[in-house]
Amino acid sequence: MGPGAMRTISFERWVLEVDAAATAEAYAALSKSQAEECGCTACRNWLAIRDSVLPPEIVSLLASLGIDRSKETELSEYEGGQVVKGRSLYCGEYLFFGRKQSGPECYVETPDGKGCKLELAPVSGSFHLGFSSRLRWARSDPSFPKERTAVLVFQAHTQRRVAHD
Ligand SMILES: [Zn+2]
Repeated sequence: MGPGAMRTISFERWVLEVDAAATAEAYAALSKSQAEECGCTACRNWLAIRDSVLPPEIVSLLASLGIDRSKETELSEYEGGQVVKGRSLYCGEYLFFGRKQSGPECYVETPDGKGCKLELAPVSGSFHLGFSSRLRWARSDPSFPKERTAVLVFQAHTQRRVAHD
């Protein structure tokens, strides 16, 4: 897999330089998403609702980046339905070949550099997203060498569909 043609994509306040062809190849070679690999109740719930949670503009954005939306490279659930009853807060990542050329940085490190918080922008409904070329806080994947890779981070409050174990 050699580097393909870089092109520029603008989305809201971001300008991204992307190699969609190389990204699509890498996703085609991934056997499953992190959520499928994990298989816990929260992850299975995400798999059941993903297609109804991703806003249409994000579905097209992922496609134009070469990302297979069924293969998140990271997925976590945070609130366990405790903060808002019956709803879950999901945070996920999609790696892609390219970099964030301009626009807000989604990983904001604490002054001591030991932690970071996410600063994401609302897209529609409860769906938020951000980008970074700094992969220190993202889950890495051997298919995506860090020096060529950027990350799309998202968060969504969603309904639960899969009952707890
Ligand atoms: Zn899980």
